Amino acid sequence: MPYKPPEDFVSYCREWEEKIGAFIEFRPDAPGAADVPLPPDAGESGSLSVPSEAKALIAERPFAVKDNIAVKGFSASCGSKLLAAFRSPYSATAVLKLEALGGCVIGKTNLDEFGMGSSTDNSGIQRTNNPWDPSRVPGGSSGGSAAAVSAGMVPFALGSDTGGSVRQPAAFCGVVGLKPTYGAVSRYGLVAYASSLEGIGILADTAARTRAVFASIRGKDPMDDTSRDAPAAAPPLYAGDKNGASDTVTGVIGVLSPEAVAKAVAGAAAINGSSTMNGGAAEAEADGAVSAAARIAAEAAELEGEVRRGFEAAKKGFAVLGYKLVDVEMPGLKYGVPAYYTIAAAEASANLARFDGIRYGKRPDWAENPDDLIDKARDAGFGDEVKLRILLGTFVLRSGFQDRYYLRAQRIRAGIRAGFEALVGGPYGDPAGPAQTMDAILLPVFPTRAFGRGSGSLSPFAQKAADLYTCCANLAGLPAVSFPASVEGGLPVGVQLLGRAFSEGRLLTMVEAYEAAHPFPHPAGYKAFFG
Ligand code: GLN
Repeated sequence: MPYKPPEDFVSYCREWEEKIGAFIEFRPDAPGAADVPLPPDAGESGSLSVPSEAKALIAERPFAVKDNIAVKGFSASCGSKLLAAFRSPYSATAVLKLEALGGCVIGKTNLDEFGMGSSTDNSGIQRTNNPWDPSRVPGGSSGGSAAAVSAGMVPFALGSDTGGSVRQPAAFCGVVGLKPTYGAVSRYGLVAYASSLEGIGILADTAARTRAVFASIRGKDPMDDTSRDAPAAAPPLYAGDKNGASDTVTGVIGVLSPEAVAKAVAGAAAINGSSTMNGGAAEAEADGAVSAAARIAAEAAELEGEVRRGFEAAKKGFAVLGYKLVDVEMPGLKYGVPAYYTIAAAEASANLARFDGIRYGKRPDWAENPDDLIDKARDAGFGDEVKLRILLGTFVLRSGFQDRYYLRAQRIRAGIRAGFEALVGGPYGDPAGPAQTMDAILLPVFPTRAFGRGSGSLSPFAQKAADLYTCCANLAGLPAVSFPASVEGGLPVGVQLLGRAFSEGRLLTMVEAYEAAHPFPHPAGYKAFFG
């Protein structure tokens, strides 16, 4: 058996769990059996080619898995009442790979229902609190995974990032959060929310552990046709990796200043606000609503003072490490949130069609006919946020309207990717792509630190507008890692580095250097059980 709970570990976990409620299912003393072998054809980066440095940080360690990622014999509720009783008959490829190295799942963590949200308060199952201050949210949607790592209940956890759901809770809880390049990690076993945007990501206590987990789970998987091995020219994860031959290090970090972003968003608000045509009262009212929404969005993108201070601390930290910082602008970013929510909702409305009470989900006790059964199952099973997004998704995909919404969002998406690639470089090994002019772009993760509930909360609309800083990496399919820059006013502030496709090795080296100079903070009561 690969994992033996250290003395006092189980009681330590139970005490924390009482306070924070990170887990939907928790088995620290009777962990899941690691009896599932790696699929026969797990590709080159299957367990055999994982370097021993990586194995050493995973073997005999417990880990947690977000409850929208399959682990055989465990729940897979996706944070939804509809799937509260569902148990997974198989495990995700990423989970199998970690188990093959001796990692051990000890539980499934809470999330916003199907990954839709930024607080984990959209869970239909339970509430999760932030270990730094239980009156505040842990962030979302991988809030349970972030809280469990932050409290020291596990050294690492898997989450999923569709628009920021690994990086934002990592920032709120003071841990490392990696969203890999699209396709770098198999999505087999991840319950789909918005398939073209999302991937399995990593939450961990240190950058070195994040690297180890990424090295273990990445690679082409025959079970997921969108998965890919890193190109030969990409930066290596470990010395001795066979790739990395033609990688260049520029020593330059582009800084996407929050001021520049806020100005761009405010500009968009002004344009929307003045769009009233000479139409009738209904048009004027609709335009009024648009401009009010644009104003709220512009306000929501502005950083609170403490987050600004954390961002400045990160800039200074990298300057001291010898990086040259240059200001960059990304005007296209202001359309990121509308494009993200258009695409995410459209894909969600299709992906969630399977939860109908027939194929999946709790059936109503009684129904008049099959249509009525589906209506009743979905009405009782889905929460408000999920219903809202399904409606929005079907709206933007209505026949005759795709061009106006969905296709337009796809064009914006291509523009955002091109904007980033002009700075960090196009795909490795593509001579026609833009050249690399910098190692990474430094940008904020979220405009606020962990927010509270009730009056201290952010409105659901403001939470969506605040996804501005994270969702663009998903639109572009590029890797980004968030990590604690500093603690301000008693709460951690995260920042993120975004880089060229398959440059995770480079990004993590930069985070490791920052961490060596500014060891990552922990909440009061934290104890490290695992090296
Ligand atoms: N806040 C974003 C949303 O609600 C992020 C979701 C995610 O990454 N799963 O869609």
